[in-house]
Amino acid sequence: METGEKQKWLLAGKIGKEARETGIAAAKPGAKLLDVAEAIEKKISDMGAKPSFPPNLSVNQIAAHYTPRFEDDKVLEKGDILKVDVGASVDGYLSDTAATTVVGGDDNDLVKASREALSEALKIAKPGVDVNDIGSVIERIIKSHGFSPIVNLGGHGIGRYDLHEEGFIPNISGSYSRPLKREGVIAIEPFATTGGGYVVDSSEVQILGFEEQKPVRSALGREILEFISSEYNKLPFAKRWIIKKFGRVAELELKSLVAAGALSEFHVLKEKNDGMVSQFEHTILFDGSEIIVTTA
Ligand code: MN
Ligand code: MN
Repeated sequence: METGEKQKWLLAGKIGKEARETGIAAAKPGAKLLDVAEAIEKKISDMGAKPSFPPNLSVNQIAAHYTPRFEDDKVLEKGDILKVDVGASVDGYLSDTAATTVVGGDDNDLVKASREALSEALKIAKPGVDVNDIGSVIERIIKSHGFSPIVNLGGHGIGRYDLHEEGFIPNISGSYSRPLKREGVIAIEPFATTGGGYVVDSSEVQILGFEEQKPVRSALGREILEFISSEYNKLPFAKRWIIKKFGRVAELELKSLVAAGALSEFHVLKEKNDGMVSQFEHTILFDGSEIIVTTA
């Protein structure tokens, strides 16, 4: 791997780690979720990067893909299980990292289960290892705590401007068998739940991504699409970012852009049986000789 490229992966990892810690530190009882998100975004921008994707602040039975709405007034309560899933982009070189906290309290066993699953998985993650072995470590640890791994979420490859490159890394054994890549970047992300271990789409959508250029009739719609493609490339973005820049009227334009196939939607993901969910995630770089956890 070329030195300049490696430095950018490492910097993205370091900023992602700082962003994650900023989010966890801000997650106090009574804190507004929107303020937590904006503190994370400010940290990333102060360190000279952009978000890889909007900070995901998913509470309790929500597993992923919740980022605050425009003017969101939701407040964290003592005992909430908050997942802070964030990442930084340095010139398209990305990080993706998550941690879970019990708001205003100590880590419970659910939190410990996914944290330990990640740390055990990292012990065996190296080029060429079968992803099935990683899945089976994660499953064993989470079940040993009496919880279920979430089977339809998992790790993935990461490429430049490509948050979810091919190469799914399962959270259970027996579903996928494939060697990990020799060189490049991956993310491993165990999810543990008190529920059945399966997430479903809810109707809510707060995160969108550029899909492809399409003819757009409205002038404002064209302007918004152009902004999205130049500002975020193919990386996911928050609806509230667009509303903040273009005003409330942008909401309808975003709907039309989704209908036209120019943008895709990331639905808020909920545990099917309304189980509580915890998650930890790190980004790992294989540079051809070393194995580096960039977000540690
Ligand atoms: Mn993530
Ligand atoms: Mn990820």
